[in-house]
Amino acid sequence: MTEELKTKVCKTCETEKPLSEFSGCGFTRDRRQPNCKPCHERRMRAGRVAGAAKREILASAHSETSVTDARVGCEPVPIPYPGFEEIPKGMCDGRVMAKALANHAVMTLNARPDHPNRARIADAIQNQSQIADMDDEQYLSHQLYEANPVHKLTQDEKLQCIRALPLDIVRKLFPHV
Ligand SMILES: [Zn+2]
Repeated sequence: MTEELKTKVCKTCETEKPLSEFSGCGFTRDRRQPNCKPCHERRMRAGRVAGAAKREILASAHSETSVTDARVGCEPVPIPYPGFEEIPKGMCDGRVMAKALANHAVMTLNARPDHPNRARIADAIQNQSQIADMDDEQYLSHQLYEANPVHKLTQDEKLQCIRALPLDIVRKLFPHV
């Protein structure tokens, strides 16, 4: 590895890539994301899905929808995060919340194997587990993404805000657009 051609191994796909393949990050020692751009984008997309899933778990548990995609006779499964049975009150690490939500969703399915929203709850379990299993660095970039108010806007709304700006400035300000 020479000074001119620095590389870094992506934490997710474990491929060695040039530093230009990693977005900037103010929190890591080398000021680069631990994951390459494609992997980082995939992780962020998964994080966005998880945010919606969190709300969905709680909503769907009380849903009155008729039994459509029920899979009756599923065996009860052990909760994925023993010791995190209660949904914590007040401020806590989002990973603790994700563990409790994953447990809660598993308990919901165990209690009602024919739950009308079984597929959606199962998805939510997967999404919450993904957050629960993040290491510090992964969780930090996940949190940074969630904290950025720009990400609350739809693609169209983002474009409305930035239409008057020159494209190169827009790319610098909003690398995710
Ligand atoms: Zn990668």
